Amino acid sequence: MKDLNYKELKIQEYLISDELLTSEKELLLQLRTRMINVKDNFNYGHVDLVCRLCQTYNDTHQHVLECQSILKDASSLVDLGMKYSALFGTEVRKQVLLTRIFRANMRIRRTILSKEKSSSRVTQMI
Ligand SMILES: [Zn+2]
Repeated sequence: MKDLNYKELKIQEYLISDELLTSEKELLLQLRTRMINVKDNFNYGHVDLVCRLCQTYNDTHQHVLECQSILKDASSLVDLGMKYSALFGTEVRKQVLLTRIFRANMRIRRTILSKEKSSSRVTQMI
């Protein structure tokens, strides 16, 4: 039991790491507690859980890292040989990388979605 508690304390290492900005720590915490705004986390009120960008796969954390619609707009592709599950592991270096990739992909996703919104508004006006 003592070992288990010790291990749990170790898992929180990223919170005191100098490698992450405060905003990144917040994002990582949101990821680990599934508070990110993807359909899979807040699955009520949706007709389906399909990703709004590619319309192919379910909208999950993992999918934000893999969605082809996001990746084709990403200028610097990072090798994702790294598993999403590393986010829940103990290696801060991997958590830092995954958090940054996730943040970059979420930005691209927001940009694409806001473009779609404004273009559909234009269509409605016409
Ligand atoms: Zn997608």
